[in-house]
Amino acid sequence: MRNKFFSDNKTTRTERVFLKDDVLKDNCGVFGIYSEKQDVAHLTFLGLQSLQHRGQEGAGIVVSNGKKTKSIKNLGLVTSVFNENNLKTLKGYIAIGHTRYSTTGGNTLNNVQPIILNLKDDDFAISFNGNIANSHQLSKTLKKVKFCSSTDTEVIAQIIKETPGKTWEEKISKSFSYLKGAFSIVAMSRKKLFAFRDPNGFRPLVLGKIKNEHVVCSESCALDMLEAEYIRDIEPGELIIIDDQGFKNTKLMSSKKQSFCVFEYVYLSRPDSVLNDQLVHQVRQRSGEILSYESPVAADLVVAIPDSGTSAALGYSKASGIPYGEVLIKNRYIGRTFIQPEQKTRDSGVKMKFNPLKKIVKGKRIIIVDDSIVRGTTIKKIIEILKKCGAKKIHIRVCSPPIRYSCYYGVDTPDANRLIASKKSVEEIRKFIGADSLKYLSLKGLVQATQLKKNTLCHACFTGKYSVPINNNFRKNILEKQ
Ligand code: SF4
Repeated sequence: MRNKFFSDNKTTRTERVFLKDDVLKDNCGVFGIYSEKQDVAHLTFLGLQSLQHRGQEGAGIVVSNGKKTKSIKNLGLVTSVFNENNLKTLKGYIAIGHTRYSTTGGNTLNNVQPIILNLKDDDFAISFNGNIANSHQLSKTLKKVKFCSSTDTEVIAQIIKETPGKTWEEKISKSFSYLKGAFSIVAMSRKKLFAFRDPNGFRPLVLGKIKNEHVVCSESCALDMLEAEYIRDIEPGELIIIDDQGFKNTKLMSSKKQSFCVFEYVYLSRPDSVLNDQLVHQVRQRSGEILSYESPVAADLVVAIPDSGTSAALGYSKASGIPYGEVLIKNRYIGRTFIQPEQKTRDSGVKMKFNPLKKIVKGKRIIIVDDSIVRGTTIKKIIEILKKCGAKKIHIRVCSPPIRYSCYYGVDTPDANRLIASKKSVEEIRKFIGADSLKYLSLKGLVQATQLKKNTLCHACFTGKYSVPINNNFRKNILEKQ
């Protein structure tokens, strides 16, 4: 049932494959605020701007004044969807927002969140980050529902609506056990703000305060933008309710195993975010340090691929004593748009994005520290560019283990057989990308860098050990979306 919606899109599967960048993508940023004293629409706009890295394809805000809700949503970046004038029309004291990254097949206006159900006596809006493993089965139980989008989000909203209960919190609590998979959700009715997280806690969700009023969002960097205080991470299986009676929380479900996405530390989250009390920048820096102990090599310069590898490269440089420097200047105005469905154009896209500092590169032995290798096409091109500039040696050090498996918990990965490490050995990858040496951080080293316990982290894309079972229907559904 869900798949039929994807056929609405004109983009073919082959085009979609090429349209993807050579990185893993998070599937959204969520934000919510309850404040009677402040301009909630404007604060949500600022919060969404800070969460822009979690999704660039669409953005939306819903506001309630207690009697009715009003929303603005559109495709595009936060700053292209909102302006001073349209934000002024969003008056109220509760707001939720969303930045969306979809697989290309689902990038339509109907799918832009928050998803809103306008009901007779109330409204219910929902912003979602994750993947529901059983959305296909759940949607089958909603035989009478006419869906307006092809998102899991609408299935979740409808399941909550259809679940018996006198209040929204009762409905959310009862429907919680039906949802299997990864979900960090911010929702609202006309009078209440809700936030809840799956029992494994795959995706981040944090709680903050601004002038004694509550904010919830995907990452703490959005709190900094508002000068709000970071209180804590919302616990896996926890439901938070904020209304005119104040703040309430309840543990809906505990899981024997927590599975926070370790890739949030590797690449997805901003370095200035704090997740599970760990500053992402410091985790990345430690991962670079550990990698330099695990895989040392003689060189003149340690460099990063701007900007994601910078923290880790600084760590590698510090621990190895090899100076840190820059050899690639990134054109910050080149986005995903340059990626065309032809490999030739894709290659020139890498050149457009990164320009080498030829004088610095010439004759040097360079260590490039990167966060991860997905398909290997970008790093291969960068090595070619630097070798053409006269680099003597290029050593690649990757601050995560080889990605061999697809993610089914809210991160957009290519099908496993398009991940280079699923088909090639490390030595074969080295040859393919043209590096003089290639080493990956061990899983043990990555876990050590997070300073968390291994059994509290998801690392399924490296190990294939999925903590929530993935059935074939779900696997198929996800792959068809890609
Ligand atoms: S499979 Fe990988 S990307 Fe997906 S949640 Fe687990 S660690 Fe994160």
